[in-house]
Amino acid sequence: MTNIIFIAPPAAGKGTVSKLLQEKYNYNHISTGDLLRSVDKNTDLGKRVQEIMEQGQLVSDELVTELLKEKISTIKGPFILDGYPRNIMQAGILEEMLKELKIDDIMAIYINISQEEAMKRALGRLTCPKCGMSYSKYNEETKPKEDGICDVCKTKLESRGDDNEEAFKVRFETYMKNAQPILDFYKSKNILKEVSENTSEETFKVIEKMIKEVE
Ligand code: AMP
Repeated sequence: MTNIIFIAPPAAGKGTVSKLLQEKYNYNHISTGDLLRSVDKNTDLGKRVQEIMEQGQLVSDELVTELLKEKISTIKGPFILDGYPRNIMQAGILEEMLKELKIDDIMAIYINISQEEAMKRALGRLTCPKCGMSYSKYNEETKPKEDGICDVCKTKLESRGDDNEEAFKVRFETYMKNAQPILDFYKSKNILKEVSENTSEETFKVIEKMIKEVE
């Protein structure tokens, strides 16, 4: 099964689509945002990382790369890379990393979404701190059955610290500024696919088709 690099602005639905791919095809979901969120917040490093993330800025290439390298070397089977590369420098680092690991079966997928729609999704996003389930309070199909409570494990749902209007705008604009050279890079390698703004279920179906086409 082909490995996937997601290139998608924040709140484009890549978390939900990744979960669907994970359930059906046993993909390993590697999210650099999750790796960073799991750095111990009681350490100086953890506090610094949290501060940067809450401002919507990027964490240093070195730190993210170190966390990713550690993770990618432990997984078995196909992976979805979610959140990396975030700039052209990281795209180059990833190339080297994959070469070393002798992985060349890669597809880059760009999820194209407008800032307006992404903002709406981000402000409505709720996640479960215990099991990681994700909900949207403004969407009838994906809102929790009981207000603010996880359907699966009944834990109180939380909004992410960086899902506020101000930080989200910075995150979206930073993302788009850096994304174009990455898109050009994968286009020149002939491995870039694009899917336009849709529900996560529809995006999942389009991606399933893409995977089958390259198998
Ligand atoms: P995400 O969960 O992908 O939306 O990422 C949340 C935050 O984590 C971002 O706004 C950045 O602060 C940080 N982050 C995630 N991935 C990277 C990366 N590849 N490079 C730098 N910072 C990152």
